[in-house]
Amino acid sequence: MRKEVATQALSYSLRLPDTIQAEALRLLDASRVVINIVITSLWDRLDEFGTRTNTHAYKQVEEMIVAPANHGHRQWRGEAEQAGRILRSQAQRKKQFDLVLPLLSEGMILPATEKRHAGKSRVTIKKALADLKKSQEDGGTIVEVQSIIEQACNFYLQNGRFPAYYEDMQSAPVQKTAQLTYSSDDGPAMGQTYRMKVNLEQKQIMLALRCPDEAGQWSRSWRARSMILTIPDYVLEHLKQGKLQAPVLREITEPDGMRYAVLDLIVEMPVTPVPVPKEMHAVLGFDWGIRQLLTASVVDLDGQQLTHPFFLDTGGFDGRQARTRRQIDLLKAKVAKREAQRDRFPERDPRREPSQKAIALLRKEISRCWRKYESRNRDLAHLAANILLVLATASECELIAGESLKSLKSQGRGKDAKGKWRNWRNNSQIRGALWQVLKYKCFLAGVHLEWQQPRGTSHTCPRCTKAANTYASPEHLEKVIDWGAWLKCSHCGWSGSRDYAASLNIARLGAAYLQEAQRLKRMGGIRHPHIAETHIKPISYRGMGAPLRFPAPSPRARLFCAGKMYCNGWVRAIALHSSYSTATMIRLCG
Ligand SMILES: [Zn+2]
Repeated sequence: MRKEVATQALSYSLRLPDTIQAEALRLLDASRVVINIVITSLWDRLDEFGTRTNTHAYKQVEEMIVAPANHGHRQWRGEAEQAGRILRSQAQRKKQFDLVLPLLSEGMILPATEKRHAGKSRVTIKKALADLKKSQEDGGTIVEVQSIIEQACNFYLQNGRFPAYYEDMQSAPVQKTAQLTYSSDDGPAMGQTYRMKVNLEQKQIMLALRCPDEAGQWSRSWRARSMILTIPDYVLEHLKQGKLQAPVLREITEPDGMRYAVLDLIVEMPVTPVPVPKEMHAVLGFDWGIRQLLTASVVDLDGQQLTHPFFLDTGGFDGRQARTRRQIDLLKAKVAKREAQRDRFPERDPRREPSQKAIALLRKEISRCWRKYESRNRDLAHLAANILLVLATASECELIAGESLKSLKSQGRGKDAKGKWRNWRNNSQIRGALWQVLKYKCFLAGVHLEWQQPRGTSHTCPRCTKAANTYASPEHLEKVIDWGAWLKCSHCGWSGSRDYAASLNIARLGAAYLQEAQRLKRMGGIRHPHIAETHIKPISYRGMGAPLRFPAPSPRARLFCAGKMYCNGWVRAIALHSSYSTATMIRLCG
């Protein structure tokens, strides 16, 4: 019997060259029309998509409808596949709506008063979700279920009643931005809709797409008109190990209305098998910090700390992000000013023209800033995920534990401009990005990743497990500050950086989780314990040999300088490659 190798699909977007943009957008427009006809025609048969008659969505669509336009059979397949996938996911959503329907109650709606508009009651919605979660034990879909409840409440606010059935509140989801999935059996070499040839040596992809001309006629000579795409290094690495799948052609619309087409390369990667619970011995816990980007600690199942802690700082990164955000605010203010200037004149007045032009330019600049901001966040997420994995592998951890994204853990918020940005990294965007990237990297590397209950982890002593206070710094122990960076335990005297304490506590939670997993002989479906529970083992120093290093609380003692990142703890250097900087050296100094 052949052993199945687990794989994971990764996707990378490449912007198509300008010379082909017009054609690619025409193709996307033509296929969007067909996709939307299919979706609207089959909308009243949505329930049928709740059962899969075939693994391929296009085959299920073909059983129900004939091609509404003559785009050629292979092209139609791609269109039917796209429409079928949308209908299948809507059918899934409809099933969840049926679950939610009996929970919908008027208590979820806050009636309008003299002082406020009618709105949604977060408390009631949250309680309904908690009840549903108890009965379902499926945390993964809770976010989706919540969005369905929100949608039903919005429907109530508009119509004065809850929807009676799913299609009551959801109309056929026609595509606004186009997307076309190429079929995997329309091979890259002999394809009837696309040709794709990858040259790993030259880091190039030769691509030809069958597109309609300006008159809407499907050109016969499309194969001769191929374009060259350069493969970025990080994609190349994965292409060498994985298998390239059929690509997806997709449209992106900028806020100013500008459109362009990208090609999503999909790479199927082999995955390292994940160890079973009884083979696992150590946990790496990490925490998002106030002073440090990440703090990580490693413990074994008896609560013994196996290494010194790791502190990762990002130097000028916060400042750069803050400056970009301020620039965006500034540009937005300029837009508002120009809009006011423009609106002094009536519609069609030529004097509106200069302001209109300036606004378009400003908007373009805003979206450029956002792109820069977001790509920095993304790159940082890749870097942080790579570092956590290196640390986990180097210290032979099979489980990485991190705080849950659902966390409401609040940290210091200053009113000054500096305070406003102090905790940018705690915003859900960057945490979400890290979690997502870390999840797939862990999956590829064969390491488990498990979220933990964050509440109380930065106000609990990791050594004696009692509640502890935080302070501004070790020199300022006279005043308790809830979001202070320094934790000192009044019971056993343990003191250290608050982030460090939190990473130890999260590692302790991970160890307790792992022990339960070993008892039940499975990793999934295990309750996540809370830090105050008594069975969670305290940290012991046995075998440590050396005293723990604490980070100096002063920001001047940053471990990051000139593009190099240092972590306390070990004796060797590891070079890490990431898109954040071409090669980042982590020196693990002892
Ligand atoms: Zn203590």
